[in-house]
Amino acid sequence: MNQNQKIAIIGGGYAGMAAAATLAQRGIAVTVFESAKQLGGRARGVNYQDTELDNGQHLLLGCYRETLRLIELVGGNIEQDFVRFPLQLELHGQFSLKAPNLPAPLHLLVAFVQAQGLSWADRLKAAGFMLRLQLAKFRLDRLQRGMTDCTVAELMVRYGQTGELTLKLWEPLCIAALNTPIAQASAQVMLNVLRDSLNQTRADSDMLLPHLNFTALFPQRAAQYVEAQGGKVHLACGVETLRCVENGFELTTPQGIETFDKVICATSPTAAERLLRGMVGANSFAQHAVRINSYPQDMDSTIAILAALPQQPIYTVYLQYPADCRLPTPMLGLHQCTSQWLFDKGQIAGQHGLIASVISAEGLHQDLTQDQLAQAVAAELQQKFAFPDAPVWYKVIAEKRATFSCNAYLVRPDQRTSVLNLWLAGDYTAGDYPATLEGAVMSGVKCAAEIL
Ligand SMILES: Cc1cc2nc3c(=O)[nH]c(=O)nc-3n(C[C@H](O)[C@H](O)[C@H](O)COP(=O)(O)OP(=O)(O)OC[C@H]3O[C@@H](n4cnc5c(N)ncnc54)[C@H](O)[C@@H]3O)c2cc1C
Repeated sequence: MNQNQKIAIIGGGYAGMAAAATLAQRGIAVTVFESAKQLGGRARGVNYQDTELDNGQHLLLGCYRETLRLIELVGGNIEQDFVRFPLQLELHGQFSLKAPNLPAPLHLLVAFVQAQGLSWADRLKAAGFMLRLQLAKFRLDRLQRGMTDCTVAELMVRYGQTGELTLKLWEPLCIAALNTPIAQASAQVMLNVLRDSLNQTRADSDMLLPHLNFTALFPQRAAQYVEAQGGKVHLACGVETLRCVENGFELTTPQGIETFDKVICATSPTAAERLLRGMVGANSFAQHAVRINSYPQDMDSTIAILAALPQQPIYTVYLQYPADCRLPTPMLGLHQCTSQWLFDKGQIAGQHGLIASVISAEGLHQDLTQDQLAQAVAAELQQKFAFPDAPVWYKVIAEKRATFSCNAYLVRPDQRTSVLNLWLAGDYTAGDYPATLEGAVMSGVKCAAEIL
């Protein structure tokens, strides 16, 4: 590609910065426009009471190859940046599954057979189901002819994974991985996650929690990397309109109007829909609206798909207790409680006494006020771990549109659009993964590869 072409990336989240870093690696100077004052988007650092938090506790898996590779490309060091521990699913006092030190996928089968809190019959059913999935290469159509998708709940019933097995294993796993209730969640996407995290090397199922916040972990480093290659990263500089002009695109921002040859729109789906809608009907649009037959979606369909994408919330309650308060493990689930997963930031990032409680997907907790939610979480910590009655402070971060709802049969927009030289990047674009950092990064890398 011509190195002098001007490339704009709209959005400085993980997808946008992955695209920017990939292009910078090839010596291409890109311009990133980010509407917020900081980078990171839905995975960003937040400062509260002089304490570094994130907008939500994030967890990476060992199989997030592209994310981990790019963190290292821009100057990170995986061993130093993260606490890494082997797969361990623990629902306090109810269920425990630990992967032993054996090669994959044996580690998983043994983990299922040795799981505590399930009957022998259920353990064997779970191990047998995993074996069947492996034989079917984690594809629904190989599991059952003609089946392209169904909900996770339907799959579990069909393969006898009912009762305690669903309540203690598959439902918490599905909500954590897909941020979608099992009655709606896509079984095929769930199988993709199981395939990549549980079925390959043992390290793929490792869980990684960073010592530093999510803006510092990758997007900020990526910005320095991009700037070192001659690129620019503009913060607090949202793109207000995107318009096709002769031989390119015109972007309007608070800094003025600038023209680019190629654009990657790496915003949230809602913002992407708004920008694309603004393009339709622009005078010169037709010039660029090259409908290439192999492209799966025309612009109207892309906009319609974006508008129809269902969303799910994630609530994170941070509670600061005295420094000597700690959980039995850095990460711990609670069975049928308000808190789904608890993270001990003391053991993860040296922030002693700080607990993050994560509540994923829609549910009754959304009817509570923030005070009531924090009190419910504090009561659980008091009851189960003898924490003091009340924390020193708490902060509830409600991300109401945290991720798209990863429903069965969901149609997602392709990275390529029907407009030449305009791509969409983001966790919601077409791919194997649910809304995750890895999904976002892979989409950004894919758009950059198309440009290259
Ligand atoms: C609370 C929470 C917990 C999560 N936990 C996990 C987890 O444990 N593991 C995991 O893998 N994933 C997790 N996720 C999902 C993960 O954070 C997202 O999938 C990922 O961050 C999405 O990145 P993105 O770049 O696609 O989108 P975004 O992060 O939304 O980035 C889009 C960027 O575009 C900017 N923007 C929007 N409009 C404009 C405009 N007009 N001009 C310029 N800029 C604009 C936004 O400010 C934003 O910075 C979680 C998400 C949340 C919210």
